[in-house]
Amino acid sequence: MSAGTAAKNGHADRLDPVAWPRRGSPPPASLDRRRAEHAAREMLDALGIDVESESIRETPRRMVGVLEELLSAESFNPTTFPNDAGYDELVVARGIPFHSLCEHHVLPFSGVAYVGYLPGERIVGLSKLARVVDLFARSLQVQERLTTQIAGWIDRELAPRGVGVVLEAEHLCMRMRGIEKQNSTVVTSAMRGAFQTNSKTREEFMTLIRSRNGR
Ligand code: ZN
Repeated sequence: MSAGTAAKNGHADRLDPVAWPRRGSPPPASLDRRRAEHAAREMLDALGIDVESESIRETPRRMVGVLEELLSAESFNPTTFPNDAGYDELVVARGIPFHSLCEHHVLPFSGVAYVGYLPGERIVGLSKLARVVDLFARSLQVQERLTTQIAGWIDRELAPRGVGVVLEAEHLCMRMRGIEKQNSTVVTSAMRGAFQTNSKTREEFMTLIRSRNGR
């Protein structure tokens, strides 16, 4: 991504190291909407769909519009604060809802994220953790990479003593084609630092995200 594109989108480069085509970044200012709409119309036509019928005539435009929306994360200021109080217990944000698009079929997968970290010298507002999930979810993704990118961001920005990220999601590309039984979900996790090396920290995190009533 060029510096100019990053500035126009209000995104700092360090927020998102992965460039368009969309693998974790906002669409460029030069997104070619006309070409995308033309291609969408061509594809529907090639699939034998009557693109001149009144109800479908505007569908290519709507397809492109909704994809653009789903692939654009709102930029935000990832302000961090010094951990003045010396808080040294786990911080866990549970049940953060997210929606993403699988990069193999361009169909939604969605679920909840659990994000925890063991603070070092810096902490971050809890709402920002949800924004980080959204930032990386709004792209063509695979769940494994999404999980790793969220953990990597927290690791980089906060330099905490440990990070744990667990994602639980349903994939429409599997459910709609009957590959998965109804209600089955895919769980992925990424552990860094103490979450990896200290089994007590990891167990505490897993207990906290499993408990229905919180701490
Ligand atoms: Zn898929």
